[in-house]
Amino acid sequence: MMISQEFIDGFMAALAAGLITGVGGFLIFLKKRYLKAEINLLLNLAAGVMIAASFFSLLVPSMQEILLESKNIYVSAFEYVLAVFIGVLLVWLLNLLVPHEHNAMGHHGPHFDIKKAWLFIIAITLHKLPEGLAVGVAYGAEEIVNPLSLVIGIAAHNIPEGLTIAISLMAAGYSKLKAASCALLIGLVQPLGAIIGLFLMDISFNIIPYGMALAGGTLLFVVINEILPETYGVKNTTRSSAAVFAGFIVMTFLSIIFQE
Ligand SMILES: [Zn+2]
Repeated sequence: MMISQEFIDGFMAALAAGLITGVGGFLIFLKKRYLKAEINLLLNLAAGVMIAASFFSLLVPSMQEILLESKNIYVSAFEYVLAVFIGVLLVWLLNLLVPHEHNAMGHHGPHFDIKKAWLFIIAITLHKLPEGLAVGVAYGAEEIVNPLSLVIGIAAHNIPEGLTIAISLMAAGYSKLKAASCALLIGLVQPLGAIIGLFLMDISFNIIPYGMALAGGTLLFVVINEILPETYGVKNTTRSSAAVFAGFIVMTFLSIIFQE
């Protein structure tokens, strides 16, 4: 197979977005102490960004494309929701296969044991694969969608995520440098995911809208099952919600202006 320009672009975009995780990780040197509430707020903001990105960069354009080619609206609707559902199911199964822990930054005070911290890190590492896949898929669908807003959304959410990784590891006893370097390495899972997405979209042009629907499903699952439960302060629902909506609105704006 020839390595196409879109393949290189998609890989480089996912690599750049993934490396931003390292930027987040090295933020640990910036401040003596980050409050859990501050990071959660950033993650909430990022969750809103990702919800908008999954709808406007993946779910909606793929739906439009499928309807454009549709011969039977019921069959098309069924195929579409099936693709979204398969995306959800894939990450769910991935989560079941690899045991992991939620909330390593939770109510256990500043110190957790190494095992707990690593189980949490595994969860973050795993969900970076579908995020990377979504970037690869979007680049494989460049005829249908401008992948830029999705890349920006994922890159932006990698900053608080990288910081979360670094803080969790530091709390488990690692040095700042080791913790930040780990965040950088974990970010490299995203370009790996992108390669899978790009290969998937290379199979046939007909598969592209379904690949996008699938990637949209995986991204939504990540937000609903990983990011929101980790960060939603029960006491500060208003603040968490406000952050999610702020992220959603900014990303919706960006999604519109990035369309040609
Ligand atoms: Zn993420």
